[in-house]
Amino acid sequence: MTSPSLLNAIRPEARAARQSGIVELFNYGRGREGLIPLWVGEGDLPTPDFIAEAARRSFAAGETFYTAQRGLPAFREAIAAYMTRCYGGPGGNFSPEQFFVTAGGMHALQIAIRLLAGPGDEVITPAPSWPNFEAALTISGASTVCVPLELGSEAGGALRWRLDPRRVASAITPRTRAIVINSPGNPTGWTAGLPELEALLALAREHGLWIIADEIYGRISFEGARAPSFHDVMAPTDRILFVQTLSKNWAMTGWRVGWLEAPPELGDIIENLIQYSTSGVATPTQRAAAAALEEGEDFLSRQMARLRASRDVLCDALAASGRARFARPPGSFYLFCAFDGVVDSRAAAMRIVEEANLGLAPGSAFGPGGEGFMRICFARDPVSMGEAADRLARWLASS
Ligand code: PLP
Repeated sequence: MTSPSLLNAIRPEARAARQSGIVELFNYGRGREGLIPLWVGEGDLPTPDFIAEAARRSFAAGETFYTAQRGLPAFREAIAAYMTRCYGGPGGNFSPEQFFVTAGGMHALQIAIRLLAGPGDEVITPAPSWPNFEAALTISGASTVCVPLELGSEAGGALRWRLDPRRVASAITPRTRAIVINSPGNPTGWTAGLPELEALLALAREHGLWIIADEIYGRISFEGARAPSFHDVMAPTDRILFVQTLSKNWAMTGWRVGWLEAPPELGDIIENLIQYSTSGVATPTQRAAAAALEEGEDFLSRQMARLRASRDVLCDALAASGRARFARPPGSFYLFCAFDGVVDSRAAAMRIVEEANLGLAPGSAFGPGGEGFMRICFARDPVSMGEAADRLARWLASS
């Protein structure tokens, strides 16, 4: 244990961020023989070889020196071409000047927060939410104001997560600086429709707020080639910072590469923030990431077919158990599910490790509204997902 005097000798913001409840469970059950790990947000596939090969070529060519802080021009061009292909529209195309290469989505988020929020500032985020939003805000000295996502029935009876923009409006105070919108969302799979995005943008415009749009699961959509995006509704003058990553679409979680999309006028400042944090992303990693964007559509479509099958295996088994309450996620690769009788999700997740040899993330790790739920990452092959669903259904029946 760290001594109290040592703790008191460091900045309060640094010690205020709590240990992630996902990491706690992971540490608790790690290394158990035969355990099926569904607690962390990553799949079971290694990075495809055409991506790794681009990095090998770069190493072989001796690209081991300091790199451009904003990112290699060739990679920034690849990002602009990819974004134009996926998100471009009548409003125009994307320019490389909008993109800043970061060490994954987390680093992009950290830079966005550095740009916008510090001590005394408030940032609104719908919850349940990915715990790193609140933790990163805490470390910067800002406060997180949570607005609840609601799980309600649609016409036809199916459940769906929704965000009522009026609740966001009522959370705005003179100290509010930004709204973090993560759609499709971790952990719920909540996916904002165009009307919700328009309403949120209208609020941001009215109150002079920034939006931090974390759209990293935008291509992991089961209701179209991609989820609705702020790119579909924004004007060039809107104040939106986009967080992106290669991690999930191309099985690259360990490579640590992503990007921040921001108004080019902020370029010099963002370059400084990169210089004074990571000083850039390794060139071979950027070459690999460029290959993913340029040649990665087939891999992504195969991954989507697999994810859809695994999602359905899991949801069908839990629906048949009669003891689970959930919305079938329209996007992301998580199911956020409440089980009859589970009120303490941390204790239940530990029991599920012991009694079902299954690793789930407790809902309490995801902030207000998460208790009583479990997050299940279904980014695995459908056969092992079927085995996981059977273990869970048996556990539910016997507990
Ligand atoms: N944003 C969300 C919503 C996430 O779930 C994650 C990772 O789980 C990230 C950002 C960060 O991604 P990366 O692994 O690239 O840092």
